[in-house]
Amino acid sequence: MAKVLSDFLAQEIESLHQKKLFRKLRILEGRQLPQAQFDGQPVVNLSSNNYLGLTTHPELVKAALRATEEYGVGSGAVRTIAGTMKIHMALEEKIARFKQVEACVVFQSGFTANAGTVSAILGKGDIIISDELNHASIIDGCRLSRAEIKIFPHKDLSALERILQEVQSHPGKKLVITDGVFSMDGDIAPLPQVVELAERYGSIMMLDDAHSSGVLGRNGRGTVDHYGLHGRVDIQVGTLSKAIGSLGGYVCGSRALIEYLYHRARPFLFSTSHPPAVAACCIAAFEVLEREPQLIERLWQNTRFFKSGLSRLGFNTGASETPITPVIIGNGDLAMRFSDELFNEGVFAQGIGYPTVPEAKSRIRTIVTATHSLEQLQFALDVLGKVGKRLGII
Ligand SMILES: *Cc1c(COP(=O)(O)O)cnc(C)c1O
Repeated sequence: MAKVLSDFLAQEIESLHQKKLFRKLRILEGRQLPQAQFDGQPVVNLSSNNYLGLTTHPELVKAALRATEEYGVGSGAVRTIAGTMKIHMALEEKIARFKQVEACVVFQSGFTANAGTVSAILGKGDIIISDELNHASIIDGCRLSRAEIKIFPHKDLSALERILQEVQSHPGKKLVITDGVFSMDGDIAPLPQVVELAERYGSIMMLDDAHSSGVLGRNGRGTVDHYGLHGRVDIQVGTLSKAIGSLGGYVCGSRALIEYLYHRARPFLFSTSHPPAVAACCIAAFEVLEREPQLIERLWQNTRFFKSGLSRLGFNTGASETPITPVIIGNGDLAMRFSDELFNEGVFAQGIGYPTVPEAKSRIRTIVTATHSLEQLQFALDVLGKVGKRLGII
Protein backbone atom coordinates (compact mmCIF):
# COMPACT_ATOMS: atom_id res chain seq x y z
CA MET A 1 0.00 0.00 0.00
CA ALA A 2 1.22 3.53 -0.72
CA LYS A 3 2.74 4.99 2.44
CA VAL A 4 0.68 8.13 2.11
CA LEU A 5 -2.47 5.99 2.21
CA SER A 6 -1.43 3.71 5.07
CA ASP A 7 -0.35 6.72 7.15
CA PHE A 8 -3.61 8.49 6.44
CA LEU A 9 -5.72 5.43 7.34
CA ALA A 10 -3.80 4.68 10.54
CA GLN A 11 -4.17 8.28 11.68
CA GLU A 12 -7.88 8.47 10.92
CA ILE A 13 -8.65 5.14 12.58
CA GLU A 14 -6.66 6.12 15.65
CA SER A 15 -8.63 9.34 15.88
CA LEU A 16 -11.92 7.41 15.65
CA HIS A 17 -10.74 5.20 18.53
CA GLN A 18 -9.76 8.24 20.57
CA LYS A 19 -13.14 9.86 20.05
CA LYS A 20 -14.80 6.50 20.85
CA LEU A 21 -16.48 6.62 17.44
CA PHE A 22 -14.90 3.44 16.10
CA ARG A 23 -17.60 0.81 15.58
CA LYS A 24 -17.39 -2.81 14.60
CA LEU A 25 -20.04 -4.14 12.27
CA ARG A 26 -22.58 -6.33 14.01
CA ILE A 27 -23.06 -9.50 12.03
CA LEU A 28 -26.50 -11.04 11.65
CA GLU A 29 -26.63 -14.81 11.58
CA GLY A 30 -29.72 -16.01 9.74
CA ARG A 31 -32.80 -13.98 8.92
CA GLN A 32 -33.67 -10.38 9.75
CA LEU A 33 -36.28 -11.16 12.42
CA PRO A 34 -37.53 -9.44 15.59
CA GLN A 35 -35.72 -12.09 17.60
CA ALA A 36 -32.37 -12.65 15.91
CA GLN A 37 -28.77 -13.59 16.51
CA PHE A 38 -26.02 -10.97 16.01
CA ASP A 39 -22.36 -11.78 16.77
CA GLY A 40 -23.44 -15.02 18.40
CA GLN A 41 -25.76 -13.21 20.81
CA PRO A 42 -29.54 -13.81 20.73
CA VAL A 43 -31.30 -10.44 20.94
CA VAL A 44 -34.65 -8.76 20.61
CA ASN A 45 -33.89 -6.74 17.52
CA LEU A 46 -34.88 -3.06 17.77
CA SER A 47 -32.51 -1.89 15.05
CA SER A 48 -33.92 -2.95 11.69
CA ASN A 49 -36.13 -0.92 9.32
CA ASN A 50 -38.08 -4.07 8.51
CA TYR A 51 -41.28 -2.39 9.74
CA LEU A 52 -43.72 -4.98 8.43
CA GLY A 53 -41.52 -8.07 8.50
CA LEU A 54 -41.56 -8.22 4.69
CA THR A 55 -37.87 -9.24 4.36
CA THR A 56 -39.00 -12.81 4.99
CA HIS A 57 -42.68 -12.69 3.90
CA PRO A 58 -43.44 -15.97 2.07
CA GLU A 59 -45.17 -14.20 -0.84
CA LEU A 60 -42.11 -12.01 -1.45
CA VAL A 61 -39.72 -14.94 -1.21
CA LYS A 62 -41.84 -16.92 -3.66
CA ALA A 63 -42.00 -14.00 -6.11
CA ALA A 64 -38.21 -13.54 -5.97
CA LEU A 65 -37.55 -17.23 -6.56
CA ARG A 66 -40.03 -17.43 -9.42
CA ALA A 67 -38.55 -14.36 -11.14
CA THR A 68 -35.01 -15.71 -10.71
CA GLU A 69 -35.94 -19.02 -12.31
CA GLU A 70 -37.75 -17.32 -15.15
CA TYR A 71 -35.44 -14.36 -15.87
CA GLY A 72 -32.10 -15.14 -14.20
CA VAL A 73 -30.17 -13.31 -11.52
CA GLY A 74 -29.23 -10.07 -13.27
CA SER A 75 -30.52 -7.48 -15.71
CA GLY A 76 -27.27 -7.27 -17.67
CA ALA A 77 -27.23 -3.54 -18.41
CA VAL A 78 -28.23 -0.07 -17.31
CA ARG A 79 -31.85 0.90 -17.81
CA THR A 80 -31.10 3.22 -20.73
CA ILE A 81 -29.29 0.57 -22.80
CA ALA A 82 -30.58 -3.02 -22.52
CA GLY A 83 -31.39 -3.30 -18.82
CA THR A 84 -35.08 -2.31 -18.77
CA MET A 85 -37.04 -5.51 -18.29
CA LYS A 86 -40.82 -5.76 -18.42
CA ILE A 87 -40.81 -6.49 -14.70
CA HIS A 88 -39.06 -3.17 -13.96
CA MET A 89 -41.84 -1.35 -15.81
CA ALA A 90 -44.49 -3.41 -14.01
CA LEU A 91 -43.06 -2.37 -10.63
CA GLU A 92 -43.03 1.30 -11.60
CA GLU A 93 -46.63 1.13 -12.79
CA LYS A 94 -47.61 -0.62 -9.57
CA ILE A 95 -45.97 2.07 -7.41
CA ALA A 96 -47.49 4.92 -9.46
CA ARG A 97 -51.00 3.50 -9.00
CA PHE A 98 -50.38 2.88 -5.30
CA LYS A 99 -49.14 6.43 -4.72
CA GLN A 100 -51.85 7.93 -6.99
CA VAL A 101 -49.40 9.73 -9.26
CA GLU A 102 -48.90 9.77 -13.03
CA ALA A 103 -45.56 8.01 -13.13
CA CYS A 104 -42.69 6.48 -11.20
CA VAL A 105 -39.06 5.59 -11.79
CA VAL A 106 -37.13 3.09 -9.68
CA PHE A 107 -33.47 3.59 -8.72
CA GLN A 108 -30.96 1.16 -7.22
CA SER A 109 -31.52 2.61 -3.75
CA GLY A 110 -33.24 5.40 -1.89
CA PHE A 111 -29.84 7.03 -1.63
CA THR A 112 -29.32 7.16 -5.40
CA ALA A 113 -32.96 8.23 -5.93
CA ASN A 114 -32.45 11.31 -3.76
CA ALA A 115 -28.94 12.17 -4.84
CA GLY A 116 -29.67 11.53 -8.53
CA THR A 117 -32.93 13.47 -8.58
CA VAL A 118 -31.89 16.58 -6.66
CA SER A 119 -28.74 16.93 -8.76
CA ALA A 120 -30.68 16.41 -12.00
CA ILE A 121 -33.39 18.99 -11.28
CA LEU A 122 -31.30 21.74 -9.67
CA GLY A 123 -28.13 23.36 -10.94
CA LYS A 124 -25.88 26.38 -10.65
CA GLY A 125 -27.98 29.48 -10.07
CA ASP A 126 -30.78 27.58 -8.33
CA ILE A 127 -31.55 27.50 -4.61
CA ILE A 128 -32.32 24.50 -2.38
CA ILE A 129 -34.05 25.09 0.95
CA SER A 130 -33.57 22.06 3.16
CA ASP A 131 -34.53 21.02 6.72
CA GLU A 132 -31.42 20.68 8.89
CA LEU A 133 -32.26 17.06 9.76
CA ASN A 134 -32.75 15.84 6.19
CA HIS A 135 -31.09 12.57 5.21
CA ALA A 136 -27.46 12.38 4.04
CA SER A 137 -28.54 11.37 0.52
CA ILE A 138 -30.43 14.68 0.18
CA ILE A 139 -27.41 16.58 1.44
CA ASP A 140 -25.15 14.83 -1.08
CA GLY A 141 -27.66 15.49 -3.87
CA CYS A 142 -27.71 19.18 -2.93
CA ARG A 143 -23.91 19.37 -3.01
CA LEU A 144 -23.70 17.53 -6.35
CA SER A 145 -26.22 19.92 -7.89
CA ARG A 146 -23.99 22.98 -7.29
CA ALA A 147 -27.10 24.96 -6.39
CA GLU A 148 -26.97 27.31 -3.41
CA ILE A 149 -28.03 25.46 -0.25
CA LYS A 150 -30.01 27.14 2.52
CA ILE A 151 -30.70 25.15 5.67
CA PHE A 152 -33.65 25.96 7.93
CA PRO A 153 -33.78 24.84 11.58
CA HIS A 154 -35.70 21.60 12.04
CA LYS A 155 -39.41 22.06 11.18
CA ASP A 156 -39.11 25.84 11.75
CA LEU A 157 -41.83 27.18 9.46
CA SER A 158 -41.17 30.86 10.09
CA ALA A 159 -37.48 30.37 9.28
CA LEU A 160 -38.50 28.55 6.10
CA GLU A 161 -40.81 31.42 5.14
CA ARG A 162 -38.10 33.98 5.88
CA ILE A 163 -35.73 32.23 3.48
CA LEU A 164 -38.44 31.95 0.81
CA GLN A 165 -39.07 35.69 1.14
CA GLU A 166 -35.36 36.52 0.94
CA VAL A 167 -34.90 34.58 -2.29
CA GLN A 168 -38.25 35.59 -3.80
CA SER A 169 -36.75 37.78 -6.52
CA HIS A 170 -33.91 35.37 -7.29
CA PRO A 171 -34.23 34.30 -10.94
CA GLY A 172 -33.29 30.60 -10.52
CA LYS A 173 -35.51 27.65 -9.56
CA LYS A 174 -36.17 27.05 -5.87
CA LEU A 175 -36.69 23.68 -4.22
CA VAL A 176 -38.08 23.08 -0.75
CA ILE A 177 -37.11 19.62 0.46
CA THR A 178 -37.95 17.68 3.62
CA ASP A 179 -38.05 14.18 4.99
CA GLY A 180 -41.60 12.92 5.73
CA VAL A 181 -40.55 11.05 8.88
CA PHE A 182 -37.14 12.01 10.29
CA SER A 183 -34.92 8.98 10.67
CA MET A 184 -33.17 9.79 13.95
CA ASP A 185 -36.08 11.36 15.86
CA GLY A 186 -39.17 9.65 14.44
CA ASP A 187 -41.12 12.91 14.18
CA ILE A 188 -43.29 13.82 11.18
CA ALA A 189 -42.73 16.88 8.98
CA PRO A 190 -45.45 19.57 9.18
CA LEU A 191 -46.09 18.85 5.51
CA PRO A 192 -49.38 20.76 4.99
CA GLN A 193 -47.73 24.01 6.11
CA VAL A 194 -44.50 23.30 4.21
CA VAL A 195 -46.46 22.57 1.01
CA GLU A 196 -48.53 25.70 1.47
CA LEU A 197 -45.37 27.83 1.78
CA ALA A 198 -43.77 26.17 -1.26
CA GLU A 199 -46.93 26.91 -3.26
CA ARG A 200 -47.21 30.49 -2.04
CA TYR A 201 -43.62 31.28 -3.07
CA GLY A 202 -43.62 29.34 -6.34
CA SER A 203 -41.09 26.75 -5.17
CA ILE A 204 -40.75 23.13 -6.28
CA MET A 205 -41.78 20.77 -3.44
CA MET A 206 -39.87 17.53 -2.84
CA LEU A 207 -40.46 14.95 -0.10
CA ASP A 208 -38.34 12.00 1.03
CA ASP A 209 -40.72 9.41 2.41
CA ALA A 210 -38.23 6.62 3.18
CA HIS A 211 -39.50 5.99 6.74
CA SER A 212 -43.16 6.73 5.98
CA SER A 213 -43.93 4.38 3.10
CA GLY A 214 -45.59 1.29 4.53
CA VAL A 215 -46.00 3.13 7.84
CA LEU A 216 -48.17 6.27 7.39
CA GLY A 217 -51.32 6.84 5.33
CA ARG A 218 -53.92 4.40 3.98
CA ASN A 219 -52.25 0.99 3.43
CA GLY A 220 -48.92 2.71 4.03
CA ARG A 221 -49.23 5.17 1.14
CA GLY A 222 -47.01 7.63 3.00
CA THR A 223 -47.00 11.18 4.34
CA VAL A 224 -48.82 12.76 1.37
CA ASP A 225 -51.73 10.38 1.91
CA HIS A 226 -51.55 10.77 5.71
CA TYR A 227 -52.19 14.51 5.33
CA GLY A 228 -54.44 14.32 2.24
CA LEU A 229 -52.02 16.29 0.06
CA HIS A 230 -52.33 14.31 -3.18
CA GLY A 231 -51.30 16.37 -6.22
CA ARG A 232 -49.48 19.02 -4.19
CA VAL A 233 -46.01 17.50 -3.78
CA ASP A 234 -44.09 17.69 -7.08
CA ILE A 235 -41.47 15.04 -6.31
CA GLN A 236 -41.99 12.15 -3.89
CA VAL A 237 -39.09 9.84 -3.10
CA GLY A 238 -39.54 6.51 -1.38
CA THR A 239 -37.46 3.47 -0.61
CA LEU A 240 -37.97 -0.22 -1.27
CA SER A 241 -35.32 -1.05 1.34
CA LYS A 242 -37.24 -0.41 4.56
CA ALA A 243 -40.92 -1.35 5.02
CA ILE A 244 -41.01 -2.85 1.50
CA GLY A 245 -38.36 -5.29 2.68
CA SER A 246 -35.96 -5.54 -0.27
CA LEU A 247 -33.78 -2.92 -1.97
CA GLY A 248 -34.27 0.17 -4.07
CA GLY A 249 -35.60 3.69 -4.23
CA TYR A 250 -38.23 5.39 -6.35
CA VAL A 251 -39.34 8.80 -7.49
CA CYS A 252 -43.01 9.59 -8.10
CA GLY A 253 -44.45 12.57 -9.93
CA SER A 254 -45.65 13.73 -13.31
CA ARG A 255 -44.92 11.78 -16.51
CA ALA A 256 -42.69 14.68 -17.64
CA LEU A 257 -40.65 14.49 -14.43
CA ILE A 258 -40.03 10.78 -14.93
CA GLU A 259 -39.17 11.19 -18.64
CA TYR A 260 -36.68 13.91 -17.69
CA LEU A 261 -35.06 11.70 -15.01
CA TYR A 262 -34.66 8.90 -17.60
CA HIS A 263 -32.39 11.32 -19.45
CA ARG A 264 -30.65 13.19 -16.67
CA ALA A 265 -30.52 11.21 -13.39
CA ARG A 266 -26.99 9.89 -13.35
CA PRO A 267 -27.47 6.75 -11.22
CA PHE A 268 -30.30 5.74 -13.58
CA LEU A 269 -28.11 6.33 -16.62
CA PHE A 270 -24.82 4.92 -15.38
CA SER A 271 -25.53 2.09 -12.93
CA THR A 272 -27.10 -1.28 -13.69
CA SER A 273 -30.76 -1.92 -12.87
CA HIS A 274 -32.06 -4.31 -10.24
CA PRO A 275 -32.03 -8.06 -10.68
CA PRO A 276 -35.51 -9.25 -11.69
CA ALA A 277 -35.96 -10.89 -8.28
CA VAL A 278 -35.84 -7.48 -6.60
CA ALA A 279 -38.49 -6.01 -8.89
CA ALA A 280 -40.67 -9.11 -8.48
CA CYS A 281 -40.62 -9.18 -4.69
CA CYS A 282 -41.27 -5.44 -4.52
CA ILE A 283 -44.38 -5.90 -6.67
CA ALA A 284 -45.46 -8.63 -4.25
CA ALA A 285 -44.78 -6.27 -1.32
CA PHE A 286 -47.18 -3.62 -2.64
CA GLU A 287 -49.78 -6.35 -3.08
CA VAL A 288 -49.26 -7.35 0.56
CA LEU A 289 -49.76 -3.71 1.65
CA GLU A 290 -53.07 -3.64 -0.19
CA ARG A 291 -54.18 -7.08 1.00
CA GLU A 292 -52.89 -7.15 4.59
CA PRO A 293 -53.49 -3.73 6.16
CA GLN A 294 -53.58 -5.55 9.51
CA LEU A 295 -49.76 -5.62 9.35
CA ILE A 296 -49.75 -1.82 9.58
CA GLU A 297 -52.30 -1.93 12.41
CA ARG A 298 -50.03 -4.33 14.27
CA LEU A 299 -47.08 -2.02 13.70
CA TRP A 300 -48.96 0.87 15.31
CA GLN A 301 -50.30 -1.26 18.18
CA ASN A 302 -46.75 -2.35 18.94
CA THR A 303 -45.55 1.23 18.61
CA ARG A 304 -48.10 2.50 21.15
CA PHE A 305 -47.32 -0.36 23.55
CA PHE A 306 -43.58 0.19 23.40
CA LYS A 307 -43.70 3.99 23.58
CA SER A 308 -45.99 4.00 26.60
CA GLY A 309 -43.69 1.46 28.29
CA LEU A 310 -40.67 3.69 27.65
CA SER A 311 -42.33 6.78 29.05
CA ARG A 312 -43.64 4.87 32.08
CA LEU A 313 -40.03 3.93 32.78
CA GLY A 314 -39.15 7.63 32.64
CA PHE A 315 -36.99 7.70 29.49
CA ASN A 316 -36.72 10.82 27.34
CA THR A 317 -38.09 9.81 23.94
CA GLY A 318 -37.91 13.26 22.36
CA ALA A 319 -40.48 14.26 19.75
CA SER A 320 -41.15 10.84 18.22
CA GLU A 321 -44.58 10.16 16.70
CA THR A 322 -43.80 6.98 14.73
CA PRO A 323 -42.31 3.47 15.23
CA ILE A 324 -38.85 5.11 15.41
CA THR A 325 -38.36 6.00 19.07
CA PRO A 326 -35.07 7.45 20.27
CA VAL A 327 -34.07 7.19 23.91
CA ILE A 328 -32.09 10.39 24.38
CA ILE A 329 -29.13 10.13 26.75
CA GLY A 330 -27.25 13.36 26.07
CA ASN A 331 -23.71 12.02 26.48
CA GLY A 332 -22.02 10.13 23.68
CA ASP A 333 -19.99 7.72 25.81
CA LEU A 334 -22.95 6.90 28.01
CA ALA A 335 -25.22 6.31 25.00
CA MET A 336 -22.71 3.85 23.50
CA ARG A 337 -22.27 2.13 26.86
CA PHE A 338 -26.04 1.88 27.28
CA SER A 339 -26.31 0.30 23.82
CA ASP A 340 -23.46 -2.17 24.54
CA GLU A 341 -24.88 -3.25 27.90
CA LEU A 342 -28.37 -3.66 26.43
CA PHE A 343 -26.83 -5.86 23.76
CA ASN A 344 -25.10 -8.04 26.34
CA GLU A 345 -28.44 -8.44 28.10
CA GLY A 346 -30.24 -9.43 24.90
CA VAL A 347 -31.59 -6.19 23.38
CA PHE A 348 -30.17 -4.69 20.20
CA ALA A 349 -30.74 -0.91 20.00
CA GLN A 350 -28.06 0.97 18.12
CA GLY A 351 -26.22 3.78 19.89
CA ILE A 352 -26.09 6.99 17.84
CA GLY A 353 -23.80 9.91 18.57
CA TYR A 354 -21.85 12.68 16.92
CA PRO A 355 -21.70 13.35 13.95
CA THR A 356 -25.04 11.67 13.13
CA VAL A 357 -26.71 13.69 15.91
CA PRO A 358 -25.26 16.52 18.06
CA GLU A 359 -23.22 15.24 21.04
CA ALA A 360 -25.77 16.61 23.53
CA LYS A 361 -28.49 14.58 21.81
CA SER A 362 -26.64 11.24 21.78
CA ARG A 363 -29.07 8.41 22.01
CA ILE A 364 -30.01 4.88 21.33
CA ARG A 365 -32.59 4.42 18.60
CA THR A 366 -35.34 1.81 18.80
CA ILE A 367 -37.58 0.68 15.96
CA VAL A 368 -40.43 -1.73 16.61
CA THR A 369 -41.97 -3.77 13.83
CA ALA A 370 -45.33 -5.41 13.17
CA THR A 371 -43.80 -8.81 13.80
CA HIS A 372 -42.53 -8.24 17.35
CA SER A 373 -44.64 -10.12 19.90
CA LEU A 374 -45.80 -8.29 23.02
CA GLU A 375 -43.61 -10.69 25.04
CA GLN A 376 -40.53 -9.64 23.06
CA LEU A 377 -41.36 -5.97 23.53
CA GLN A 378 -42.03 -6.44 27.25
CA PHE A 379 -38.69 -8.26 27.60
CA ALA A 380 -36.98 -5.33 25.86
CA LEU A 381 -38.71 -2.84 28.18
CA ASP A 382 -37.65 -4.83 31.25
CA VAL A 383 -34.03 -4.89 30.09
CA LEU A 384 -34.08 -1.19 29.17
CA GLY A 385 -35.44 -0.41 32.64
CA LYS A 386 -32.88 -2.56 34.42
CA VAL A 387 -29.86 -1.28 32.48
CA GLY A 388 -31.19 2.30 32.49
CA LYS A 389 -31.35 2.27 36.30
CA ARG A 390 -27.95 0.63 36.63
CA LEU A 391 -26.36 3.38 34.51
CA GLY A 392 -28.27 6.14 36.28
CA ILE A 393 -30.17 7.14 33.12
CA ILE A 394 -33.55 6.82 34.82
C1 LIG B 1 -32.80 5.05 4.53
C2 LIG B 1 -33.06 6.38 3.97
C3 LIG B 1 -32.72 6.67 2.65
C4 LIG B 1 -31.92 5.70 1.80
O1 LIG B 1 -32.68 4.62 1.39
P1 LIG B 1 -31.92 3.30 0.87
O2 LIG B 1 -32.95 2.64 0.02
O3 LIG B 1 -31.53 2.53 2.08
O4 LIG B 1 -30.75 3.75 0.09
C5 LIG B 1 -33.07 7.90 2.14
N1 LIG B 1 -33.72 8.82 2.89
C6 LIG B 1 -34.06 8.57 4.18
C7 LIG B 1 -34.79 9.60 4.95
C8 LIG B 1 -33.73 7.35 4.76
O5 LIG B 1 -34.05 7.13 6.03
